Amino acid sequence: MADELEQSFQILKQTIPLLIKHQISAIPTNYALWYTYASNQSAPLNAELDRLTLNDHPLSSAKIQELYRQHIADSQEVGAWQLRQSLEAMLTELSQSLLDTRSDTQNFKQSIDNRLSDLDKVEKEGWSVEEVMQLVRSLVKETQHIKRSTLDFAAALATAEKEIADLREQLKDSQQHALYDALTGLHNRRYLDEELRVMKPDKGTCLIMVDIDHFKSINDQFGHQMGDRVLKAVGKKLKDCCRDNAMAFRFGGEEFAILLQTSKLNQAIHQADVMRRAIEKVSVIDRRTGKTLDGISASFGVAEFSGSMRNSDLLEQADKQLYQAKTLGRNRVMPLSK
Ligand code: GH3
Ligand code: MG
Ligand code: MG
Repeated sequence: MADELEQSFQILKQTIPLLIKHQISAIPTNYALWYTYASNQSAPLNAELDRLTLNDHPLSSAKIQELYRQHIADSQEVGAWQLRQSLEAMLTELSQSLLDTRSDTQNFKQSIDNRLSDLDKVEKEGWSVEEVMQLVRSLVKETQHIKRSTLDFAAALATAEKEIADLREQLKDSQQHALYDALTGLHNRRYLDEELRVMKPDKGTCLIMVDIDHFKSINDQFGHQMGDRVLKAVGKKLKDCCRDNAMAFRFGGEEFAILLQTSKLNQAIHQADVMRRAIEKVSVIDRRTGKTLDGISASFGVAEFSGSMRNSDLLEQADKQLYQAKTLGRNRVMPLSK
């Protein structure tokens, strides 16, 4: 137990500088993620974080939540909520030091209750590093005061444990809905907005906007359900075309967006054209009639983020190019490559 505790402290000590380095606020998800990173427990997580933060690329909170969900919340062996456990380990240690002492039981109980509700706030309110450190400091200070007390602390810890389990469930549910599009399973618009917010002009970011051509007539001819299946098939095709540096989003309705990192405009135009040709090959079978629906196409607008643009301008520019592609006859990528 003493060894485990010592190890938790050591990892926690490495976690805080990582949060500061990557300018990440100290909400529990972020802690858990970087704690797991510092503890080297998940090689895939470490590899992905190393890749994503290469060149100091910033991480959006949506990305962090996704990594948490992929690598921690769903993973048995990583043992989620490491941070919470280590804070609890501290509390446990504090309680151990009380066992051979006695006095002022009520005060002690009260102060521990306060700390437990502070722990709860760490989760709910997204405390800053400074605030968490303050909590740790006051815990240490209070131990000195309560050393004379004799309260069995196990019941309070059991309550805290139950809270953690509940919160973890809630977190899992809310993340699922907040970041993913239910129909296509792609990332949603909110996720894209978060990614766009953290972009930096010197990192070579391009955006591709995609809009399915004459989608309304697909709905009209084949019904809304078939329309949905076309959206799913197109979404999947776009996602399959995304390599490591690309992320696909459902922007809304029959519109999609692809965010490319470390890419030049010409490369992005080329990638958009690969996607355009892939969509031409999509076919969906109408289960009712047995007929195959094909001849699907989409138009593409591409833009490159530059130093003179605000982050929101990237969307506007890609949209303008998409409009051009539509007016020039659809099923094409604009601008033309140079
Ligand atoms: P254009 O080539 O100019 O893009 O024509 P369009 O018909 O694709 O564009 P328009 O904006 O006129 O129509 C888009 C249609 O997409 C209208 C809307 O009913 C349909 N749509 C939006 N969301 C969904 C969805 O989730 N499922 C289905 N089946 N249809 C949807
Ligand atoms: Mg549209
Ligand atoms: Mg359309």
